[in-house]
Amino acid sequence: MENNELWQSVLAQMQLHISKANFATWFQNTEISQKADEKVIISVPNAFSKEWLSNKYYKVMLKTMHDIDNTIRELEFTINPQAARSFAPKIQDVADAERANIEQLKFDEFKVNKDTNLNPRYTFENFIVGSFNELAYAAALAVSENPGHSYNPLFIYGGVGLGKTHLIQSIGNKISNEGKKKKVRYLSSEKLVTGIVTAIRSNSMDQFKASLAPIDVLIIDDIQFIAGKNKSQEEFFHVFNSLYEKNKQIILSSDRPPNAIPELESRLRSRFEGGMIVDVSLPDYETRLVILKSKLQEKGAKLPDEIIEYIASNVKKNVRELEGALNSLLIYQKINPAHVNLEIAKKLLKSFIFSPFDVANYKKIIETVSKFYNLEEKNLFHPTRRKEIVRPRQVAMFLLRKELKYSFPAIARKFGGKDHTTVIYAYKKINQEVEENSKLTEEVNLIKQRIYSG
Ligand code: ADP
Ligand code: MG
Repeated sequence: MENNELWQSVLAQMQLHISKANFATWFQNTEISQKADEKVIISVPNAFSKEWLSNKYYKVMLKTMHDIDNTIRELEFTINPQAARSFAPKIQDVADAERANIEQLKFDEFKVNKDTNLNPRYTFENFIVGSFNELAYAAALAVSENPGHSYNPLFIYGGVGLGKTHLIQSIGNKISNEGKKKKVRYLSSEKLVTGIVTAIRSNSMDQFKASLAPIDVLIIDDIQFIAGKNKSQEEFFHVFNSLYEKNKQIILSSDRPPNAIPELESRLRSRFEGGMIVDVSLPDYETRLVILKSKLQEKGAKLPDEIIEYIASNVKKNVRELEGALNSLLIYQKINPAHVNLEIAKKLLKSFIFSPFDVANYKKIIETVSKFYNLEEKNLFHPTRRKEIVRPRQVAMFLLRKELKYSFPAIARKFGGKDHTTVIYAYKKINQEVEENSKLTEEVNLIKQRIYSG
């Protein structure tokens, strides 16, 4: 087995053992640098990683490798700062955006194009279309066929792992692979913000803008992270305008529609709303089956139908999880080709499957509502009449009632012993507004989606 393949198997196993965030922190920029006799040498980006990995994960990693190749008996860690790929300079602004970056972490693909920042693996050809995303797909395709002139900007939103990055990169790949030599640039919002902040600090805003001027198609992923970053918003507003005026195509993705991004300057919001806004939602069972089958085909692999159906009916959260579940089975299959059956699949996929602990609960509702509105949790309980707090508080009360069937007095107690008529008022108000006000309906739906998708 190739070093790389071996390492991929370890990474896949490790993902089952630790949280996504941990995984991203400790395994980013690691690889097998050498395999000699019984020893495997793993290169890590810094001393911190080395210490942590060797103390915490040595056993699991060794076992995983040993299971695959039983000549392996020892691991060693070596520090290779080179491996710390272009992680942006630390600035406060990027802290949130880093979360997006973690989401984005793709450990199996580093074939990113240096000019465009696009990953060639994202294409329209391998994008599955169903009722959950057909509008977004159609809009993306239209933009790729006539950049700058069909929908500008194109704004695609939806929850994590639903194919936004895939779709917006497909547009970029299609355009840049065509003969017309259009210049495409893909940027995560982290990169955008870092670029702007660095330019401001070093007094080189003009250069920064000049570097974007020749671009025909600008793609910014996860633009919601620009929320609250005023300087970045201001500069991006100018960048946006100057490209837009020249009929250059702008494509944006976000986890929510523009009107639900908190602390977004209104002039920027109206720019975002000025083109086409489309959403991607969750694939249904049939589509999940199609996705699994096409991914299997892509990888030239096979699994019994009953297993594919089992995955499709149980892994419902998003396409990324679906892929993750499939990959962990395929890795197992590679190691133990004769042994894959439904029992094994059930065991292996435990971590992907909806558990009773996954359902909504009090903590989750409070946490999700606060996060959605960019508030600290304690502020939700603050006895204030400020509109930016009252509304989220009412939404939280509404959801506690609607989703958890809490009694009004119980909700009142949770909110510092308020009179329960206040809670009834909040519930009725939101309930009615959800019927009448599509912005609120959208917000409540997005919040619910998050509560239930963990
Ligand atoms: P998002 O940006 O919305 O969080 P991604 O685009 O990163 O989601 O998708 C997560 C994973 O699922 C990627 O590997 C992507 O290729 C795959 N994926 C998502 N949607 C589809 C789809 N409709 N067809 C095929 N693969 C998909
Ligand atoms: Mg994404």
